[in-house]
Amino acid sequence: MKIGSHVSNKGAEMLLGAVREAMSYEANCLMIYLGPPQNSYRKPLSRLRADEARRLAAEGNIDFADVVIHAPYILNLAQEDGSHRRFAIDYMVSEIIDAGIIGAKNYVFHPGNRLKLSVEEGIDNIARALREIIERTEESGVDLVVETMSGKGTEAGKSFKELALLIKAVDSPRLKICFDTCHAHDAGYDIVSGYEETIALFDREIGLDRLAVIHVNDSKNERGARKDRHENIGYGKIGFDALYRIASDPRFSDRPKILETPYVKTENREVPPYREEIAMLRRGRFHDFIEELKKG
Ligand code: FE
Ligand code: FE
Ligand code: ZN
Repeated sequence: MKIGSHVSNKGAEMLLGAVREAMSYEANCLMIYLGPPQNSYRKPLSRLRADEARRLAAEGNIDFADVVIHAPYILNLAQEDGSHRRFAIDYMVSEIIDAGIIGAKNYVFHPGNRLKLSVEEGIDNIARALREIIERTEESGVDLVVETMSGKGTEAGKSFKELALLIKAVDSPRLKICFDTCHAHDAGYDIVSGYEETIALFDREIGLDRLAVIHVNDSKNERGARKDRHENIGYGKIGFDALYRIASDPRFSDRPKILETPYVKTENREVPPYREEIAMLRRGRFHDFIEELKKG
């Protein structure tokens, strides 16, 4: 099972620390932001310690192609022409080129908020931006992986239909999909009692060959709530069995599966849940690890 989590990529260690953190969870893939997710400051590539990180990753059996890069979430490709849009396009181009030099295969991003625009206008804006980005990053070897969203506010990409429209408008084999279990559940898709039907629908409307990354998260909310609040594996409304079913689905064994679940608050600190969650999903059996972490 190719499974890992979001890890931090900061300080003096940068990618070396990210790989070390992933290895401490016994992960064999990982996801990072190239800098703070909420802003666009980025260190030059030469300070990311990518070569040292790659050597360490090899010891841990982590292929650098399975280092997933996530775009900062301040970028909005759905909006109309203007300085932010120009900034977002140029910014993504430069991050994708960097991702390619690092050796990553997948660059995950959110489609954006359409605000006052109609769904069609929003999708059209995203498609035009992506066509330009794809053309300018032809040599990078990196795929652009758009994430399924929960549909809170005016988020574009809340349905397979919208994503299918986008794929059609962009018309490039480099545009792929990241299926986020929490987002799909919050958007109304049934992955608990209707898993096979939902996957079949995805296959019909988008095509399973487009599925590049899976974000494995439980959800704090009922299906269709359009909230997007992640919960620890087995503690939310999706539940362990449904998340295990998708994480262990043999059709997706080569796709990186990334946990983005919240840290666990104990009396005096916040602890990452990933080592336990990865172990549970590999084993196929839930246990109340939060209770254990709290006991210390
Ligand atoms: Fe995301
Ligand atoms: Fe996600
Ligand atoms: Zn989310």
